[in-house]
Amino acid sequence: MRSKIDNLVPYDPGLTLEQLEKKLGKPILKLASNESLWGPTPKLKAYLQNNLERLNFYPDGTGGKLKNILAEFWGLSSSNLCLGNGADELIFMLTAAFLDPCEKVIIPTPTFSSYGIAVTIVGGQIIEVPQKNLAIKLDSLVPFLTPEIKMIFLCNPNNPTGTYFSEKELENFLKKVGEETLIILDEAYIDYVQAENFPCSRKLVKKYPNLVILRTFSKAYGLAGLRVGYAVSATKTIRQLEKVRPPYNVNTLAQEAAYVAFQDKKYLTRVIKETCEEREYLIRELTPKGLRVLSSQTNFILINIKNSPVVWEKLKKEGILVRKMTSFGLEDWLRITVPPRKFREQLLICLEKCLGN
Ligand code: PMP
Repeated sequence: MRSKIDNLVPYDPGLTLEQLEKKLGKPILKLASNESLWGPTPKLKAYLQNNLERLNFYPDGTGGKLKNILAEFWGLSSSNLCLGNGADELIFMLTAAFLDPCEKVIIPTPTFSSYGIAVTIVGGQIIEVPQKNLAIKLDSLVPFLTPEIKMIFLCNPNNPTGTYFSEKELENFLKKVGEETLIILDEAYIDYVQAENFPCSRKLVKKYPNLVILRTFSKAYGLAGLRVGYAVSATKTIRQLEKVRPPYNVNTLAQEAAYVAFQDKKYLTRVIKETCEEREYLIRELTPKGLRVLSSQTNFILINIKNSPVVWEKLKKEGILVRKMTSFGLEDWLRITVPPRKFREQLLICLEKCLGN
């Protein structure tokens, strides 16, 4: 037994949709995990069918076909890419590959929980930098920059706030970070970003060799159930990461689905446009009701709600599952994934009802 693991709490995915529907005896609208309710491109079905005949063989262990089209998009080579069983696995691989016990990692909070868990598992030391006003201010991290810092996790746009930092802010910061520090820039929600001053990581990753970009097919591409993500960085970093990658970590269907989904730009553009329209509609509707809703560049919104656990319970009884923020230390907030238009009224009516009594 390792003592570092003693205080870790296993990730609790909660009940599955089916289990919850059975328990409550009604259909549930699940808006708790920032999955895309638009689903993946309908083109997938035919492609996946062909692959069913190949399931007795191991997947392509190099992920070559998928990596080639991603590399083309990034203007880089396959040697700059590493595939993961979701971006989550890459976070764990990064700490396994680059962090020795007791080495220091900066994590501005609140943010995605996997970073802290991955650091703890390998015995790293977390330097948590709590952020004011629920937005990551990179300047607040500068006083913590020393040559002993091995890694910095930055989520942009940030989960659970939906807020972002600009290219100017990021570049100012990158210039101050020493070459020996790896900066992990998690861009899981980038597809939903509309802000023009958002950082262009395709450019920055070529300029800063200590930058690692994380992307996922779980959000806008609608493939959370298949688990595909990837890291982009300098060849040297990727070579090290590949050493800790479990064999065949991305399965045959996942590779094929990501390959097809990545190329259906028309479908992706529609999903993104509709998600952003719905997000802005919800913010416009909820704000005049006296609710504080953070401006968001993602497929979710964070709402300030007093008695949020009570409201959460009521919403669940009404058939809508959203995310409590207690584990993020945000007691008075609920995070809601943006659903397609056909669920708009249901969500707004239920919210009004559950807030009102
Ligand atoms: N990064 C962030 C910021 C996330 O919110 C999530 C999932 N919610 C992940 C990474 C993990 O994504 P994946 O499904 O690709 O493991």
